[in-house]
Amino acid sequence: MVASTIPFKYLGVPLSLKKLTTQQCKPLVNKITSRIESWAVRFLSYAGRLKLIKSVLFGIQTYWAQIFILPKKIMKEIESRFKAFLWTGKANPTKKSLVAWKTICFLKSCGGWNVIELCDWNIAAICKVLWDITHKADSLWVKWLHVYYFKAKDFWTAAIPQKGSWVLRKLMKYRSLIKDLGGWNSVTGNNKVQIKKVYAKLRQQADKVPWKRIICNNSASLRSVFMLWLANWNRLMTKDRILTWNQACDPICFMCLQENESVQHLFFLFNYSSRIWAKVLKILNCSKPVQGFKQEADWAIKRSRRTDSISRLHFMFLAEAVHSIWLQRNNVLFNGYCDPAHTVFKQLVYRVACRCSNDDKKKLFWITNGGAL
Ligand SMILES: [Zn+2]
Repeated sequence: MVASTIPFKYLGVPLSLKKLTTQQCKPLVNKITSRIESWAVRFLSYAGRLKLIKSVLFGIQTYWAQIFILPKKIMKEIESRFKAFLWTGKANPTKKSLVAWKTICFLKSCGGWNVIELCDWNIAAICKVLWDITHKADSLWVKWLHVYYFKAKDFWTAAIPQKGSWVLRKLMKYRSLIKDLGGWNSVTGNNKVQIKKVYAKLRQQADKVPWKRIICNNSASLRSVFMLWLANWNRLMTKDRILTWNQACDPICFMCLQENESVQHLFFLFNYSSRIWAKVLKILNCSKPVQGFKQEADWAIKRSRRTDSISRLHFMFLAEAVHSIWLQRNNVLFNGYCDPAHTVFKQLVYRVACRCSNDDKKKLFWITNGGAL
């Protein structure tokens, strides 16, 4: 390789002081795409895919995003792959999405899943480089910057050197951001800057959702909590929603063949689902009639303010019931049958028992065996 042919690659990433081109970033996009394609053959639930996005896929881009200011176009492309993988299980960008990606990136208490927004995270990582420039006087690179570019002037007020590299000029433009965030003190811990803290300040703020507790503190399986989350946003693919874009859709519920299908109806307003939920309410000592999803969710939210076993079990049951009834509804749709209500109820108790804490398990055993509360 001729010396003048930089950027060259080191540990698989291009080293460059110039602006990275989208072409140079292609290996990153390709790596993410091939990882998704290796999973595409397996059946994974939404919740399983969400977990992989948050851990494995995010991890792949972190390495690059901590070193480079990545082109926005590339980050949008990576995000579109994440989005496609979540909703379709494939890497090809798609318009299909039940909930906007922006919402998925909100905190869980604000109705999201706390997925990192890539552009903001890249800026937060860049702030760490700024911290190094202003705090790591021993580093050879930092010494060189100060001697060669800032010439003993204060980094914060030094003019942006026109002959400086693209990376340096871009970095210096972010100086004002640190002031806007409230200075280093507001984003440091253990004497170093914390990317997480910077990101927390940069991330888009959103209002808290009233149902935050039944999602955040729910020990039901992640796939059930995900279904409950979709139901809370009213984004399950029920017929009332399909009708909004497909007028040819028959609105009648698959299960009872009497009323129109909606989240409110499916959970728990018809014979089958109301029988299951009535059994749950009975063991939870709720002497109230079974109502629709909205009212039942409100009831669980009210209970979630308490911190006793019954309230924890209540919203675990709610998540597992929504998931189970949804699966039975799909069973009727695709296979033409569903399990009897009492079998579904037994499975619900089993699933909750498997996942709740030991104390809650004792309580559950007590109440399902007819014990007094
Ligand atoms: Zn029905």
